[in-house]
Amino acid sequence: MDNKKIRVRFAPSPTGPLHIGGVRTALYNYLFAKRNNGKFILRIEDTDQKRYVAGAEQYIMESLKWSGIEVDEGLEQGGEYGPYRQSERKEIYKKYAEQLIESGNAYYAFDTPEELETLRNKLESEKAANKSYSASSRMQMKNSLTLPEEEMKRIIDAGEPYVIRFKMPENEKISFTDIIRGEIEVNTSTLDDKVLFKSDGMPTYHLANIVDDHLMEISHVIRGEEWLPSLPLHIMLYRAFGWESPEFAHMPLTLKPDGKGKLSKRDGDRLGFPVFPLEWKNPQTNEISSGYRESGYFPEAFINILAFLGWNPGTEQEVFSMDELIEAFSLERVGKSGSRFDPEKAKWYNHQYLIKKNNEELAELYQSVLREKGINAEIQYVEKVVGLTKERANFVNDLWEQSAFFFVAPDSYDAKAVKKRWKAQSFDQMQELSRVLENIAEFNSENIERIVKDWIQKNEYSMGAVMNAFRLLIVGALSGPHLFDLISVLGKEESLQRIEKGMEILGK
Ligand code: GLU
Repeated sequence: MDNKKIRVRFAPSPTGPLHIGGVRTALYNYLFAKRNNGKFILRIEDTDQKRYVAGAEQYIMESLKWSGIEVDEGLEQGGEYGPYRQSERKEIYKKYAEQLIESGNAYYAFDTPEELETLRNKLESEKAANKSYSASSRMQMKNSLTLPEEEMKRIIDAGEPYVIRFKMPENEKISFTDIIRGEIEVNTSTLDDKVLFKSDGMPTYHLANIVDDHLMEISHVIRGEEWLPSLPLHIMLYRAFGWESPEFAHMPLTLKPDGKGKLSKRDGDRLGFPVFPLEWKNPQTNEISSGYRESGYFPEAFINILAFLGWNPGTEQEVFSMDELIEAFSLERVGKSGSRFDPEKAKWYNHQYLIKKNNEELAELYQSVLREKGINAEIQYVEKVVGLTKERANFVNDLWEQSAFFFVAPDSYDAKAVKKRWKAQSFDQMQELSRVLENIAEFNSENIERIVKDWIQKNEYSMGAVMNAFRLLIVGALSGPHLFDLISVLGKEESLQRIEKGMEILGK
């Protein structure tokens, strides 16, 4: 990297909850900034008042916080380049739109919606090469290029609505580079005269975005592929202003699991997994969409999943902490083609982080699940339980299914298992086993295992028959961790009670 200051921005519009593709954009910007000792800026692009959704801004900030993406400059952090909300920068943009008019790169347009509609229909029926308001059609329209000066003045003075359009040069080949996609060439005749400034006194996305990126000294624009079609216009705007343009990197789309189309906000819970970082309640409909946080994902796992949606380190390593990602990340290793979201892989990642947590930390998390179920267990006990069961869980909540029998004795026994494993001799064998267990002084897993196995062998019992019947009485089913580990944690007294109770219920 040259010695230019690295400054990148994440520039969401508060039009609803941030979707995971949006968090990925923020993440790549953040990783790139941190990798290059740069700054990560959060700018809220809220110039489209019609699409503003209450609560969305707060949601965006909370999502970044939960994900561990730290903002250097933004609404809450402040900074020397603020304000960081475009609606508070309103006054700035008009001046730049007018600057473009003065330099001959933009013009006023007064066309009514009906006139625009007529133009569209006409270009459509003529099968025109460019079917929009553009260099090839602007001279037929009502704008400051075609109207006499006095007429124009009259319209503006009368307060009639107008917009400011960019005057796209005609038939010029331009070329520019995208870090991910390489060299791109476009003929300006295929582009239209986009509106830069609207009749409501607000800039459009294009103008505000370019002006702000320039004023905020953004060095690299890293954003989703859906903005690639706007890039030629943006390049032309930089040129028209006489500003050096930042470098651009357009990231691949995030696709649905079947690869058919972009993963969208609407996919939500329809596909069986969250598409939002945090749960979102639609303020208009009160409809709730699930979030990664509420579904039990660890933020580290969530970040790891997103990092691999389009980027890879070029090695076999899959589990990366944020610091490792910062160390390994480069835009050159971001792919061009869309990356499918794989919900199973997402769970696998969470599992990796779950088993990496130490038992104390995990026990604390699990203890609150237990409390909700009305179970108050000693933390040391819970630690032992999670140690024995975490390998089988993807989420903290899954631990219950894997370990309920550590906290509640069975009061019923799986019928199929009983039929298969509770045999004529089981009752007597379990009675004998009780006595064997009773006499074990040091009730630890290894010791119990050695003594019980010796007893089985000495009596020439079937190992399988004894162990299955034993498990059935302890767990109520044939599942669960290594039985000797399990009873050593339960303790002698509890184990003996379970055996006794089970024998009573299942009988001879
Ligand atoms: N406000 C745009 C968005 O919502 C920003 C696009 C860009 O990064 O230039 O995605």
